[in-house]
Amino acid sequence: MTDTLTPIRPGTLIINGEAVDAASGRTFTTMNPATEEPLVAVAEAGAEDVDRAVKAARAAFESGPWPKMKPAERQKALFRLGDLILAHGDELARLETLDNGKPIFESRQIDVPMVANCFHYFAGWATKLAGETLPVNPAFFTYTLREPLGVVGAIIPWNFPMIMVGWKAAPALAAGNCVILKPAELTPLTAIRIAELALEAGLPAGVFNVLPGKGSVAGEAMVRHPGVDKITFTGSTEVGRHIMKTAADTLKKVTLELGGKSPNIVFADADLDQAVRGAMNGIFYGKGEVCAAGSRLLVESSVHDEFVGRLAERAQKIQPADPLDPKSRLGALVSQAQMEKVLGYVETGTKEGATLVAGGRRQPVNGKGWFVQATVLDRVENTMRVAQEEIFGPVLSVIRFDDVEDAVRKANDIVYGLAAGVWTRDVKKAHAVARRLQAGTVWINAYNFYDAAMPFGGTKASGFGRDLGPESLREYSQVKSVWVSIE
Ligand code: NDP
Repeated sequence: MTDTLTPIRPGTLIINGEAVDAASGRTFTTMNPATEEPLVAVAEAGAEDVDRAVKAARAAFESGPWPKMKPAERQKALFRLGDLILAHGDELARLETLDNGKPIFESRQIDVPMVANCFHYFAGWATKLAGETLPVNPAFFTYTLREPLGVVGAIIPWNFPMIMVGWKAAPALAAGNCVILKPAELTPLTAIRIAELALEAGLPAGVFNVLPGKGSVAGEAMVRHPGVDKITFTGSTEVGRHIMKTAADTLKKVTLELGGKSPNIVFADADLDQAVRGAMNGIFYGKGEVCAAGSRLLVESSVHDEFVGRLAERAQKIQPADPLDPKSRLGALVSQAQMEKVLGYVETGTKEGATLVAGGRRQPVNGKGWFVQATVLDRVENTMRVAQEEIFGPVLSVIRFDDVEDAVRKANDIVYGLAAGVWTRDVKKAHAVARRLQAGTVWINAYNFYDAAMPFGGTKASGFGRDLGPESLREYSQVKSVWVSIE
């Protein structure tokens, strides 16, 4: 499908309410994963630009109109931004699909509404962040204030470039902070556009800044900068660990949403049709480039052969297709490097003794693109690398289990703890297993559901802290205790 719409504008930095070039004048090129062709040049932020953005954000936080605005006015501005995102839904979805390679169906029907949902939901919280009056001593009037942290640095990945803007910026802004956001170098375009829409919505200059650039340069400078009070990060466990260490020098608060290798557990008493669909959605949605992907499918032995047979048949029917085609359900992986990493894991899995029952190959569309087939590896042992490491692509590892104990043991026998799925008709078993799983989110007879009101985050090597829901507001605010002597 040819893209005949308006050309994409070159990407800029957004600092202090203005679209600007990098101080160094440097740019990088963002690519279309479906065609392997350059999309557009984008300004590349360096340490000097980080410093400019921090000065702008600090000024906006300390003396600009943002802290003086009534919460109801902040609420209106954030709500307007949610409306503008919906009004520009087609444009944003197209940008996201061209930059990331994901199907336009996902960008338009899932990502755009989710970002808008974040701004609408958190807008409402701007007027509801309250302290408490605490009975301490009759000689005192004692109360707490809930206050913003100051300048929040958000560092986001390439798998959900637009959704992550909503997850990070919406609660941070609702709590009264100013934000500097660094999108992933591979996918900077929608964050820049949303920052422009934020200005249109009435967010004052300096309140929401966007710095496209390299993680090792702009990201690193944000984490080191003493003018940044908090880093909220989503990405790999390795970079998360590095950020936490670096942030210690300036005692920054950190929230880390890291990798996952989430178990999706199918018991023999499940509705197997529903579970097959859930297993597919758990791994092939977002091309499997999803931190919470149900990438370890645990299937009870008594239904294993039948279940895997049905799954493999369906997986073979999902063909990679042009992401701009509304019927496409499997897009291109974000980069050549990611595609090679994913294909490398398929090879590793088969060498380790797994059986390839669907996909496993690169499959260009119209002769081009970093597309990988929907892939299922069966006969995986929980100790294999394809069971323990995050592949981050459309590759499902199927592992057998014998009973509830075996399922829970295998599910938890991993460094990660982000999400999990449970498929069963037995209500007691569903709840009991959900309690025993080491995961930040458990879906029962469902997978990959998200909402701005529902907290999301991990445990173990999947990080700590929560995005979304009322929980996330605590990540972006702090409590001050006030004692007033009244005698
Ligand atoms: P990274 O963790 O490297 O990237 C995430 C973000 O961190 C990007 O904005 C990146 O910038 C930035 N970053 C990188 N290095 C630093 C640094 N030293 N200081 C501050 N910020 C930094 O993920 P990758 O893109 O390299 O993906 C590698 C693997 O990570 C994937 O295959 C997948 O397994 C996992 N991953 C997990 C995600 C999740 O949602 N949990 C999301 C993305 C990846 P830049 O893009 O410029 O490098």
